[in-house]
Amino acid sequence: MNRRRRIYEGKAKVLYEGPEPGTLIQHFKDDATAFNNQKHAQIDGKGVINNRISEFVFERLSEIGVPTHFIRRLNMREQLIREVEIIPLEVVVRNVAAGSIAERLGLDEGMTLPRSIIEFYYKNDDLQDPLVSEEHITAFGWSNPAELDEIMQLALRVNDFLVGLFLGVGIRLVDFKIEFGRLWDNEQLRIILADEISPDSCRLWDIETDNKLDKDRFRRDLGDVLEAYQEVARRLGVLNESRPPQGMVPVLVASNNPSGGGE
Ligand code: UDP
Repeated sequence: MNRRRRIYEGKAKVLYEGPEPGTLIQHFKDDATAFNNQKHAQIDGKGVINNRISEFVFERLSEIGVPTHFIRRLNMREQLIREVEIIPLEVVVRNVAAGSIAERLGLDEGMTLPRSIIEFYYKNDDLQDPLVSEEHITAFGWSNPAELDEIMQLALRVNDFLVGLFLGVGIRLVDFKIEFGRLWDNEQLRIILADEISPDSCRLWDIETDNKLDKDRFRRDLGDVLEAYQEVARRLGVLNESRPPQGMVPVLVASNNPSGGGE
């Protein structure tokens, strides 16, 4: 039974009314979708891992001065966040050609791009989130040039930081998607990082093997989706509370040894 007011339900998350004005609860579901909802599955445990990975990444970003909506973790699947007015753009930063840019421009997947590239997609499921230019964004009033400057600066800072963070644990950050929101703070409008950063919204390749550790395992039927997400969490040092996995039997390390020896 859930008596909380549901504010919004997306493909992988639900937002509930928060305990105080100006807050929301972000709940991570196990649902995975791709190709505009045509492909759908439950990946048991994904929501729990994404909650922790996103928390970890947002906290590290906050430490370097990137404003984020994250306040604190509430439980395994939920975090308390600041309520913002979401800017209806998916901001994609790419370091390596993959996915839609590889297809659109005929690039080999895995090619390092000449420099990091920012793209904007208009958040609209009915239109399947079309690629848009700054001209479209400002002409239709989805954002303005000052906000876009701020968004691009923040996106590049996030990228620089995350490239290093992941490289440190043997992962290549190929690309990722982020979203921003507006927040009124003492009569001042601020742009803050919202949504999530997790293997659902990033392409993460093992630096040695190019093994995919992200949602492409689901999109492309590569299998072991949860295992890949767990690997990312493990490498980041998240979810390592040395609790044995369920079903694991304690190993007997000392026993009566008939052959003698011992003490
Ligand atoms: N992405 C996302 N949500 C979307 C679309 C893309 O999180 O609705 C992420 C995706 O996981 C990848 C990056 O944005 O890390 C770039 O995705 P791309 O444009 O290549 O689209 P895709 O190949 O996923 O259709």
